[in-house]
Amino acid sequence: MRLVLVGPPGAGKGTQAVFLASHFSIPHISTGDIFRANLKAGTDLGNQAKAFMDRGDLVPDSVTNEMVKDRLTHADTAHGFLLDGFPRNVAQAQVLSAVLTEKKTPLDAVLELQIDDSEIISRLNNRRSVESRADDAEEVIVHRLNVYHEQTAPIVQYYRSEGSLITISATGAVDEITTRAITALGNK
Ligand code: AMP
Repeated sequence: MRLVLVGPPGAGKGTQAVFLASHFSIPHISTGDIFRANLKAGTDLGNQAKAFMDRGDLVPDSVTNEMVKDRLTHADTAHGFLLDGFPRNVAQAQVLSAVLTEKKTPLDAVLELQIDDSEIISRLNNRRSVESRADDAEEVIVHRLNVYHEQTAPIVQYYRSEGSLITISATGAVDEITTRAITALGNK
């Protein structure tokens, strides 16, 4: 199963990704997690990403695409993967398509988690108090949502016209959403 998860910040992508990766026995590749690990370790990549992440902006494609291309060469992706947080714009989606076309391993599905902005803001306010992520500050959340609508939402249309998009509602209990996702992906 080669799967991409798409949805606004706070839709529960990270939470669902863990369950889905385990269900399908595939690695969970979160670009946000990779950037945060690099920030923590003080690597060059982390330093390059920091200012963008702090503002809630996308890290430049030149940095992000190379990081993902490299990750997709690791042996654990041979039988599939779940990408969480990538692609985040149409240019990234095109790079991913090109990489996978070259390997003759197209995506099986793109799962969109759909949720209203008002619900997201209350969820992220909550997450801030639990995880204390700097980019969950309220004004940064609003900016990240704008970035999502302006830059990331167009990939939904990109994948819809490709025929690989599956959309499910991301409201409700975590386990209900997981069941919904697995059912929707069932015939893929
Ligand atoms: P996330 O944990 O997916 O919400 O990502 C946290 C932050 O990492 C984002 O706000 C961006 O600054 C950066 N980031 C994660 N994935 C990408 C991506 N595909 N392209 C550019 N920046 C990204």
